[in-house]
Amino acid sequence: ATPTAIMAGIGSAAKHGILIKSGVAMEQIGLVNALLFDKTGTLTEGKLQVTGVARLHNQQAEDVLRLAAALEQHSEHPVAHAIVKAGEDRGIKLPQVDSFLVHPGNGVSGQIDGHEVMVGNRRFFADKGIETAELTQMREEQESAGHTAVFVARDRKLVGMISLADRVRLESRDTIGRLRLNGVGEIAMLTGDNRGAASQIARQAGVTTVYAEQFPEAKYQRVEEHRQKGHIVGMVGDGINDAPALTAAHVGIAMGAGGTQIAAEAADIVIMNDDVSKVADVVQLGQKTLRVIR
Ligand code: ADP
Ligand code: MG
Repeated sequence: ATPTAIMAGIGSAAKHGILIKSGVAMEQIGLVNALLFDKTGTLTEGKLQVTGVARLHNQQAEDVLRLAAALEQHSEHPVAHAIVKAGEDRGIKLPQVDSFLVHPGNGVSGQIDGHEVMVGNRRFFADKGIETAELTQMREEQESAGHTAVFVARDRKLVGMISLADRVRLESRDTIGRLRLNGVGEIAMLTGDNRGAASQIARQAGVTTVYAEQFPEAKYQRVEEHRQKGHIVGMVGDGINDAPALTAAHVGIAMGAGGTQIAAEAADIVIMNDDVSKVADVVQLGQKTLRVIR
C-alpha cells in the first residue's frame, strides 16, 4: 500500500498545481517540523515598486535611474524588475551594457560607456570598499519605513540610492497560522534584505523568527543548523540566492511562476502558481499520506 499512497498523494498534489518530484519528497513533506521561508517573492508578492531616488553631487535622479536600469535589464531579481519598470515609466533611454555580473544576494555590476557601474545593498558596497556614509541617514530612514534600499556607484563612487517597497502576499499570514496548527513547530524567515524591511514583512506574515542580511551561504547555514538539531527541514524560496538552501533542506519548495528556473531545479516540490497557501496544503497532504502508510 505504501507506493500506492505515495502515488495517490503525488497525483492529488498535481491536480492542485503542486509538482512533487519524488516519492521521498512526498513522504518527507509530511514529516517537516521546521520550515524556513525566503522573504522576497515567497512571503511577499515580489512585485516591488520604486518609491524614491536619492542623488548625490551633480547627478540627476534620472541619471541614477538610467545607470541602474541599464544594468538591471539583465537581472531577473524582483529589485531589478522594479528599477527597469521605473525607468520605462519615465521614458528613460538606456545605454548599452558591455559586461554584466550578478552577485546573488548582493546586487549587480557591469561596464557602461567605459565606466564600472554597481547596484546593490549596503553589505555589497562595504565589501567592495565603496563609501556610503553620505547616504546613511537616508538609508536608515527608508529601512525603518520597511523599504529596501540599493545604492548605485559609478567607478566605485556613490552616485545615488533607490528605495523600493514590496507587499506581503495576502495568503501569507493564514498559511503560517495553518502550518503552526498542523504541528510545524519552527517557522522562520530568511532574507538577504535589510532588518527593517525584514521585520515589517515578518510581522505582517506572523513569523516571529527573522534572519536578515543573509547571503546565499548564510541561508544554507541556517538549514544546516536546523538539520543538526535533528529537525526535518523544509525551505521555501524563489531565487538564485535560495538554491543552496533549497538543495540542503530535506524538502526544498520553489515558487514556480515568478521564481527563477534555478530555484525550481534545486527544489523537490514546485508550487506552479506561486500561491504560498499551497505550502500548507502540501504539508497537510504529506501528513495525510503518512497516516495512510502506517
Ligand atoms: P530575498 O532573500 O529577500 O529574496 P535576495 O537575497 O535575493 O533577497 O536579495 C537580497 C538583497 O540583495 C536585496 O534586498 C538587494 O538589496 C540586493 N540585491 C539582490 N539582487 C539585486 C539586484 N539585481 N540589484 C540590486 N540589489 C540586489
Ligand atoms: Mg526571494
